[in-house]
Amino acid sequence: MTITTSPAALAGATPAGAVALDRYPPLARPDLTYTHEVAEATAPIYEKLKHIIPAIEWPALAPTIHAINVLKKERNAVILAHNYMTPDIYHGVADIVGDSLQLAIEATRTDADVIVQCGVHFMAETSKILSPDKTVLIPDMKAGCSLAESITGADVRALRERNPGIPIITYVNTSADVKAECDICCTSSNALQVVESFGVDRVFLIPDKYLAANVGNKTDVEVLVWDGACEVHERFTAQELRDYRKIEPNVQIIAHPECPPEVVAEADFAGSTAHMIDWVKTNKPEKVMMITECSMADNVASETPGVDYIRPCNLCPHMKRITLSKILDSLLYMKEEVVVDPVIAEKARVAVQRMIDLKK
Ligand code: SF4
Repeated sequence: MTITTSPAALAGATPAGAVALDRYPPLARPDLTYTHEVAEATAPIYEKLKHIIPAIEWPALAPTIHAINVLKKERNAVILAHNYMTPDIYHGVADIVGDSLQLAIEATRTDADVIVQCGVHFMAETSKILSPDKTVLIPDMKAGCSLAESITGADVRALRERNPGIPIITYVNTSADVKAECDICCTSSNALQVVESFGVDRVFLIPDKYLAANVGNKTDVEVLVWDGACEVHERFTAQELRDYRKIEPNVQIIAHPECPPEVVAEADFAGSTAHMIDWVKTNKPEKVMMITECSMADNVASETPGVDYIRPCNLCPHMKRITLSKILDSLLYMKEEVVVDPVIAEKARVAVQRMIDLKK
């Protein structure tokens, strides 16, 4: 896993995780007692969480949630939470929620000095690429991603050497180092648009072989793949979906395009996390099954009353490294800082910006 792309940090001059403490002095550890004040301050948050967190568990969570919400103001920090964060983070402390690119773009629009990225490492790098002047923290530097770890910048350079002239598109789930070597970035929402934007017969779409295959099924462009996969979505099978339909004949099944093509073919709709959420809000199905990471359904449920969620799902162990107590420590001790070499960041920013401009 790429821990940092800063040569200074790699050389040991700026240890990963250290933020200059003269800029951000350490703060006193808050008292985490469930007081009347904490109960009152967190009551509106519990309203959004009561469908998923039993009342008996709330006194154990509320003091940390309250402390984070106080501390983030003191630090002038904004907390970004990916759709796969647990509900206590998603509804309890996040200022902005969404998919990784939505989060990074929204963060550029805030005047916060500090970004706390509740997600995995490549997402924090993307935030740093788009907000180079902000301090970007990740509560657990080990929060990686099987897709991002499947390819390096050197792999992309070798791919280009072997296949001159073929555009290389990178899914946003890659390190800054990889983005810096690619022509343009894409998300699962706009991958088809990006593939067709070149007006050529063949493109590489790396590193997710399933996303590339799913996009390839919708276009005449030949989409060449890299052998990477999301360890969460590749575990779903088409047979599993057929079995669920037998038990729940009226269920609507919606799948993420990181799933294998035969799983996507079995689903009623396939789209990015943001599109899945929109689809449920627009269509309001009686029963729905989200073929993706477990926390998605938990997070959307409170915003879609009347929809019954059937919950087969797979957990992402990397996303689940981010916890409330680590977020609290992140703000208290200003750790762990995500740094990206400015030269790499500038090249990666070009790839991301090309996609944003295309979207417009
Ligand atoms: S769900 Fe898959 S793509 Fe997302 S962080 Fe986890 S391993 Fe990576």
